[in-house]
Amino acid sequence: MNKRIYLSPPHMGGNEQKYIADAFDQNWIAPLGPNVDNFEKDLCEFTGAKKAAALSSGTAAIHLALILLGIGEGDEVLCPTFTFSATTNPIVYQKATPIFVDSNYRTWNICPDHTRQAIKDRIRLGKKPKALIIVHLYGQSASMLELMDLADEFGIPVIEDAAEALGATYRGRALGTFGKFGILSFNGNKIITTSGGGALLSDEPALVEKARFLATQARDQAPHYQHSQIGYNYRMSNIVAGIGRGQMEVITQRVEARRKVFDFYKEALKDIPAISFSPELESSMGNRWLTCIVIDEELSGGVTREDIRLALEAENIESRPLWKPMHLQPVFEMHPYYGSNHVAADLFNRGLCLPSGSSLTAEDLDRVVAIMRKTFQNPPKKA
Ligand SMILES: *Cc1c(COP(=O)(O)O)cnc(C)c1O
Repeated sequence: MNKRIYLSPPHMGGNEQKYIADAFDQNWIAPLGPNVDNFEKDLCEFTGAKKAAALSSGTAAIHLALILLGIGEGDEVLCPTFTFSATTNPIVYQKATPIFVDSNYRTWNICPDHTRQAIKDRIRLGKKPKALIIVHLYGQSASMLELMDLADEFGIPVIEDAAEALGATYRGRALGTFGKFGILSFNGNKIITTSGGGALLSDEPALVEKARFLATQARDQAPHYQHSQIGYNYRMSNIVAGIGRGQMEVITQRVEARRKVFDFYKEALKDIPAISFSPELESSMGNRWLTCIVIDEELSGGVTREDIRLALEAENIESRPLWKPMHLQPVFEMHPYYGSNHVAADLFNRGLCLPSGSSLTAEDLDRVVAIMRKTFQNPPKKA
């Protein structure tokens, strides 16, 4: 069997183990210490955010952002339907209701027109949404100009889920630094990884201070353990933060490598008109975390994204359908949804993520492209 090609495997820079060794040498084997402090500094320097809190996951960061915005039982939160469930779950942890909004084709992200429609309709029904979560899916910028204007117009705070978008920018500014809060993820398959982890970004130091307080069990100032609020155990370990410091030394190269992978596929498959690629909004630079394609079945002679996925899998190559929209998930389908063209559902039905790791070799990429070309030339027979 050929060596397996993964969708987005970890890619270490080299110094990660040095920072882990420092933690052992200094006996900082805890969810605090110099690696945590320095990783937070690295994140601020790289993104331009004023403050960062390193946490156990991106999901924890979203949860804390919602808590800091005072979101609780019965509140409503606007959320793109086209995302990973981790964006939505923390809304439900807070017993609030997600209000799903469809995407547009220009960005694949939350559609400003439908967002406006949703805000107006929820106000008409007697409840103004308490927050707007914007996701930069696959490292592609959402329509930040329109969305931030809309949020300002209605006075709705923004949480930017940049879990997939570290290293991406809009008008030269890092995604994750536009909202009141930004969140990042360092899970195993993201553009950089700490094995698992996340961060909360904000330009308001008091909010990040409060996030750190809540993330360490909400201990009041006292010699004993004293609590006047419910806390969480959401802080990042000093060992894990050592991996993050090593990874931040190579983040710029990782973004370049992912963008090169995207450009390679685009060039190598340009003569197949049934394949189109994910967009990049004007004035933005995506990190191309995953290279995503969409198949036009009228032009493909009936070849579907599933045909391509299975053909790749038969050759030990991992690919994956685009995210299944939240409003179509059994666990979320009872919540309101705003959209008329069902863009997210269409992208899910026709879209595929190709292997996109920054450590892919030229040989790996040739293998992927050869199998895709073969599938288009000899479409699988169907019953
Ligand atoms: C990965 C991801 C998250 C959650 O991050 P974790 O660190 O895995 O908890 C949130 N939102 C999106 C869009 C993601 O892709």
